Amino acid sequence: MKKIYMVGLGPGKREAMTYEAVNAIRESDVIVGYDFYVKLIGDLAAGKEVFSTPMKRELERCREALEFALQGKTVAFVCSGDAGVYGMAGIMMEVAAGHPEVEIEVVCGVTAACSAAGVMGAPLIHDFAVISLSDLLTPWEKIEKRLDFAAKADFVICLYNPYSKKRTGHLARACQIMLKSKSADTKCGYVKNIGREGECHVLCTLEELRDQKLDMFTTVIVGNSETVVLNGRLVTPRGYQNK
Ligand code: SAH
Repeated sequence: MKKIYMVGLGPGKREAMTYEAVNAIRESDVIVGYDFYVKLIGDLAAGKEVFSTPMKRELERCREALEFALQGKTVAFVCSGDAGVYGMAGIMMEVAAGHPEVEIEVVCGVTAACSAAGVMGAPLIHDFAVISLSDLLTPWEKIEKRLDFAAKADFVICLYNPYSKKRTGHLARACQIMLKSKSADTKCGYVKNIGREGECHVLCTLEELRDQKLDMFTTVIVGNSETVVLNGRLVTPRGYQNK
């Protein structure tokens, strides 16, 4: 059988991986992925063929994974978080579109929005929007529009990729846009290195968030108009107590 597992590893620590992810890796002959993630799975990759590349070689990794599968090898293509959330599951299916005999199974993982929310409290309890600030594949104008509309609709907003080396003003600009319709003291927070060495989080207001210097291993959550801080935790009320 020709098979590729698109495996979401979760945020980083082994305990946050699903049993299904561990089993898919165990069952595979080849591990494909960005070298940082291959390192994360450590001994699970022992004795297996590994094809890892630095960042930005996504297409090459997919073509290679397809080649291995066509040779009859079972492949685990590893991604952080969930492979279907800003991950490689989609592009893998596009690359393999001409090969219906290759089965592609998505093994879901805990995406950064959920693990960040868990570290900070329960901020995603109600409707939320997830927006990436990376303009590598999406025009910045479109990102601005999404931020604007999500803020106007009073969504809790989770931001991925809050920092990029090329354009350092993204987060400040994003906050500026959200500040048009969200109040300056909107409760927010961010978590760095979830489930990895150096994990830390900060709660702040939207106005304070605007001036933060974050890195690419950070996930940000901007509350809605009802989000509060309770005992140091970021909480969006679901509304049960108003019924
Ligand atoms: N597929 C991944 C997302 C990849 S996009 C997932 O489902 O989580 C990369 C962005 O995800 C980062 O810029 C950051 O915003 C977020 N992210 C991924 N892993 C993270 C971690 N361990 N700690 C904090 N943020 C993380």
